[in-house]
Amino acid sequence: MTLPPDKEVSFKDSVNLSFDLARATLDIPDGMAQYIRNVNNVYQVRFPVKIKGEIETFIGWRAVHSDHILPAKGGIRFSPQVDQNEIEALAALMTYKCALVDVPFGGSKGGLLIDPTKYDRETMERITRRFAFELIQKDYIGSGTNVPAPDMGTGQREMAWIASTYNSYRPGDINHLACVTGKPVSMGGIQGRVEATGRGVVYGLREFFRTQDDVQSAGMEGNLEGKKVIVQGLGNVGYYTAKILQEEDGAIIIGILEYDGALLDLNGLNVEDVYQYKVANKGVRGFPGAEYVADSKLLLEEACDILIPAAMEGTINQQNAGRIQAKIIAEAANGPVTFAAEAILQEKGVVSIPDVYLNAGGVTVSYFEWIKNLSHIRFGRIQKRYEEGKSEKLIQAIESSGHKVPKALVEQICQG
Ligand code: NAD
Repeated sequence: MTLPPDKEVSFKDSVNLSFDLARATLDIPDGMAQYIRNVNNVYQVRFPVKIKGEIETFIGWRAVHSDHILPAKGGIRFSPQVDQNEIEALAALMTYKCALVDVPFGGSKGGLLIDPTKYDRETMERITRRFAFELIQKDYIGSGTNVPAPDMGTGQREMAWIASTYNSYRPGDINHLACVTGKPVSMGGIQGRVEATGRGVVYGLREFFRTQDDVQSAGMEGNLEGKKVIVQGLGNVGYYTAKILQEEDGAIIIGILEYDGALLDLNGLNVEDVYQYKVANKGVRGFPGAEYVADSKLLLEEACDILIPAAMEGTINQQNAGRIQAKIIAEAANGPVTFAAEAILQEKGVVSIPDVYLNAGGVTVSYFEWIKNLSHIRFGRIQKRYEEGKSEKLIQAIESSGHKVPKALVEQICQG
């Protein structure tokens, strides 16, 4: 299925066209396919917040694409560009992602139209809590109905505010901690969630490089070591992906693209240094020792082995797809390659590893956080005691036959 060359459809239509391609390979009735394809419900809220004496009105959405399994799961993003179409598209991707990696959740997504950089921390807390309150009232947040997580512009801090707001309004819910994932560990979060999406992207790439036929069909050989990588977006997903690829796999990060410009160094950028600079200076412009390109999207077209769009949807589209020189596109962001661009890339022989597979590490670890919260016990706590008891019995059995086990070994074996 190809689109006219001058036509670029919306994000939601792009996701739905991909659905149609997949659906054509399946034996399911048309009516059921239509039902699966479309979003089940969307809740739009408008609410006022008094900021420095003036009333400001905010608008946000929470869409449930599918509640065939509850709770429905998906991030909440804070962005000055977000709209209902985007949220519906992202909710649909969540359904397909959870189904693909077999995480038992329905698909949902939320967004607040806001530029978070414009407000101080205290104001952001009031806005977030008010947005959460609106969603809690209608059960669009709840441990058994709908469980948000971080996405663009949100992180542990916002999830902590949402969890605490939920607890205030539903004090009788003993599962209140499970109302949201991506919380700080001190508030019921789980080790590894912060870097889970980026680490998942790396695991997906490692899997790709294990199959040499696929690697060769992409015009490469070997493993990730020494591969030249360009990353767009040094936020949560992009930062951890680039850092792990550099530190654990020996990949060379030659380009980092941010909203205020891009950095290029064919010998490799130090990801941690660039990240620290970006945090301190609110951007990458001025980073010493690398070539700076003001129009950051131009670097998407630079020659490299792996291009990792990890910022937002639609950055590889009909306009630039023909000029992409990467051999692999690793979709770390949701929907970074439009439907029309995908057809162009396929024709050029560029291999795309799709978002619903590659960035599913976040929701997978969120699942473990959710069940940890529901079970009200730390992972391994009971098993630890059980293992200790069993090992002690084993040592007793050995020693009762007249053999002495060295003390250091006993301590090692008996540690649960
Ligand atoms: P984030 O807000 O932490 O980071 C996004 C980064 O991209 C920021 O550094 C921002 O400055 C940069 N950016 C924004 N627009 C840009 C542009 N046009 N060009 C270059 N850089 C730009 O967000 P995130 O959580 O890392 O999410 C990034 C993408 O990954 C989104 O598509 C999101 O839906 C997807 N995703 C996130 C998670 C998660 O766990 N956070 C999970 C799955 C998918």
